[in-house]
Amino acid sequence: MSLGILYVAATPIGNLEDISLRALRIFKEADYILCEDTRTTHQLLSKYEIKTATISYHQHSGGGKVQQLLRYLAEGKNLVLVSDAGTPGISDPGSMLVAAARQEYGPELSVVALPGANAAISALSVSGWPVDRFTFFGFLPHKKGRQTMLKEILVNDYPAVFYESKHRIAKCLEEMSIIVAEYELTIEVMLARELTKMFESLYFGQPATLAKQLANDLDMQKGEFVVLVRKIKK
Ligand code: SAM
Repeated sequence: MSLGILYVAATPIGNLEDISLRALRIFKEADYILCEDTRTTHQLLSKYEIKTATISYHQHSGGGKVQQLLRYLAEGKNLVLVSDAGTPGISDPGSMLVAAARQEYGPELSVVALPGANAAISALSVSGWPVDRFTFFGFLPHKKGRQTMLKEILVNDYPAVFYESKHRIAKCLEEMSIIVAEYELTIEVMLARELTKMFESLYFGQPATLAKQLANDLDMQKGEFVVLVRKIKK
């Protein structure tokens, strides 16, 4: 019996129409959809009337779950891995299962990408900045290593992109403005908030200016953020 295929599928980052026709077809045809949170993925599946069975698979899934999924592949079952939003493996679970499956079955196993939404790439695409080269930092650490990574971001020669939660976005802008003053840097920040959603907004400015704007605007403090930073040549 031939091995099943492991698909890695991007799902929308807000707007449920941001899903490819191919992904919808494979969702329907697959044996199982592996979801970071089955409740979140069911919203997408029910919109498109997809009844494929789902299995929970997330960062805390243990080795037993991975072994079960590997057995399904050995039985020829096709699996689709999704995260809650965007592309699996990009600041999201996914890479461990892909690595385990490849280690088990080697080049015989097909791991197939179903490309689609990604918050960082979406933000870069609307920045208007030259982003032929950029550096992606994922999430900043909450405590240890945070200042070091922020410095690295701010002195970087290429535009930098990272994810930040609404709980830390104000702190992040304040921390950036301190580093900018200390190292006499001139930088521009772009905040991409709620991409593809009803209150999608882009904000451009120096960190201190954006920090003030955020402090005075309760709406601006809500939602999901991608942060872009670039150095301005003096
Ligand atoms: N794998 C996802 C991707 O491909 O973009 C990223 C997952 S990561 C756990 C979630 C973070 O991505 C959020 O905290 C936020 O920083 C960013 N994000 C996700 N959706 C977003 C959106 N609609 N607008 C702005 N940022 C978003």
